[in-house]
Amino acid sequence: MMEARFYEKKKDQQVHCLLCNHHCLIKEGKRGLCGVRENREGRLYSLVYARPIATHVDPIEKKPLFHFLPGSRSFSLATAGCNFRCLFCQNADISQLPQDQEKIPGEEVPPEDIVAAARQAGCQSIAYTYTEPTIFFEYAQDIAILAEAQGLKNVFVTNGYMSTEALQSIHPLLHGANVDLKAFRETFYHKQCGAKLAPVLKTLKTMKGMGVWLEITTLIIPTLNDSKEELRELATFILQELGPETPWHISRFHPTFRLTDLPVTPVSTLQQAWEIGREVGLHYVYTGNVPGDRGEKTYCHQCNRLLLDRFGFTILKNELDQGGCPQCRQPLAGVGLF
Ligand code: SF4
Repeated sequence: MMEARFYEKKKDQQVHCLLCNHHCLIKEGKRGLCGVRENREGRLYSLVYARPIATHVDPIEKKPLFHFLPGSRSFSLATAGCNFRCLFCQNADISQLPQDQEKIPGEEVPPEDIVAAARQAGCQSIAYTYTEPTIFFEYAQDIAILAEAQGLKNVFVTNGYMSTEALQSIHPLLHGANVDLKAFRETFYHKQCGAKLAPVLKTLKTMKGMGVWLEITTLIIPTLNDSKEELRELATFILQELGPETPWHISRFHPTFRLTDLPVTPVSTLQQAWEIGREVGLHYVYTGNVPGDRGEKTYCHQCNRLLLDRFGFTILKNELDQGGCPQCRQPLAGVGLF
């Protein structure tokens, strides 16, 4: 068990966790909202350090990161736990586990073994994903230090709820991130996720300022976040605050976990969102969970030539010439494109 980073001691053996924007005040013997940080005799401990519950070798496109080492493998890992309570969570079996269980599951795997496994599998990056990497921050940070020293990149797939202090501490090691921008309304974050929108927007702007490569994902859920007005506002935020080169992944909802009374997102809604993103001025808008859709492919934003042809997470053809368009020479924004 590892003592937590980012907390301060308070009176009566209470601790104040500073890792994420929930800022839990935790009494002795209790856990924070994420269920994996526990106060023992006035000290805060991570219960998930070196205890991954899932490890897989994935295509980087599955994160999704479409402009980051395209076609490469990413060693992907998660521990149990999450600081959000999304009613539509696709990984609720592992993200919400600690709420139900006294003992945190996961096998003992030290950071050096993760990096060795990543190298052995021919991965070019390590992805902290499936659940929220913020809640296993100490583990992620120690892996990231070793990974970078051995030439691997680090990417977070995150809800963006980490504190600025935590972000500043890991940012030199963080090369890319896919951040969920789940909606553009505080009420959505409050009712559907048990969180707030404003800290997520702040994290996005801070990451951009730090030079972390950013891609954004929005799961479009019928009736909850699919109005044209909201999607236009969200896309405009990406354009104005993060830049037109920031890829926006709009993804198809399937009923799951506690949100089973809504239909699958119609493909026409995703196409409408795609149009809105392009009208607003974003260069790269992608549709997700619709294999074979035109919105899976990367086109040159200047001359519209097909640059990266994909089906699902597979790259069928890479036409990039030195990281740019072979026709008009416009560079493609991203990391490790040639
Ligand atoms: S990381 Fe967990 S304990 Fe810390 S503030 Fe966030 S939810 Fe609370």
